[in-house]
Amino acid sequence: MSVFNQPLGGNDMIRTGGPATFMRLPVQKGAEGLDACFIGIPMDTGTSNRPGTRLGPRQIRDESRMLRPFNMATGSAPFDRMQVADIGDVPINTFDLKKSVDIITEYYKGVLAYDAIPLTLGGDHTLTWPILRAMRDRFGPVALVHVDAHADINDEMFGEKVAHGCPFRRAWEDGCLINDKVFQIGLRGTGYSPDDFNWAREKGWQVIQAEECWHKSLSPLMEEIRAKFGNAPVYLTYDIDSLDPAYAPGTGTVEVGGLTSVQGLEIIRGMAGLNIVGGDLVEVSPPYDPTGNTALTGANFLYEMLCTLPKCQ
Ligand code: MN
Ligand code: MN
Repeated sequence: MSVFNQPLGGNDMIRTGGPATFMRLPVQKGAEGLDACFIGIPMDTGTSNRPGTRLGPRQIRDESRMLRPFNMATGSAPFDRMQVADIGDVPINTFDLKKSVDIITEYYKGVLAYDAIPLTLGGDHTLTWPILRAMRDRFGPVALVHVDAHADINDEMFGEKVAHGCPFRRAWEDGCLINDKVFQIGLRGTGYSPDDFNWAREKGWQVIQAEECWHKSLSPLMEEIRAKFGNAPVYLTYDIDSLDPAYAPGTGTVEVGGLTSVQGLEIIRGMAGLNIVGGDLVEVSPPYDPTGNTALTGANFLYEMLCTLPKCQ
């Protein structure tokens, strides 16, 4: 019998019952005593196109009921190695996005004070910037793996500095990132100018466009990233729209020609061995996900993130 929290098993309670937490883990108020925690940010007020990500955390939790504790591919047994719980949702202000980002930063400072590693269920991508501010205050600048169809480096959208297309420009301005240890993977689609991705390249970031990923394994890329990052603190931000809409149609800003779910798994599993300090899975929009498969994929990716954490190796 493990001394750690366990997900409620499918042979103890039918998978359509039990608590509506991530993997039907116990709920805990706050992160005290935890090695890792799942947190929801039910927000879509930073969204520019189709809304709905405020419903994402709840739908990801619902679909996560199918996950079982052992990772049959990697051999990971996260619930034998770490104390994990679902600590609920960040109480954002849905009428004020700017207040919400400050609420998020303060909330994550509280989590990091307990040395718990936060794994976040989004929510639109705006939320990664305030999380990275809390990371910076705890660890200094961090290395970043950013998987997305979009660069999310706009200076502003509709004249606004806070939006889901701007988080990594804001994080850069706030000194949250180690500029020679930033990888953006899966970028593609139409733009406003041929230079849309070059601002990042000028900062020293590595931009791996989707076309460079087509038809091949991404494990060699991850090997390169592990060698480059060394022991630096690393944050993983995974926008579900990085996947091709064939795999993940349930999101607001779809782009054709994306990554496969297998490549997504290769990226996340390829993070194992790094000094991961946090991760998020953003932009699942349940109104566009009638089968639930996009949320299910998101739930699997969050579980895979848990399996890559340092204490799990
Ligand atoms: Mn994004
Ligand atoms: Mn995106």
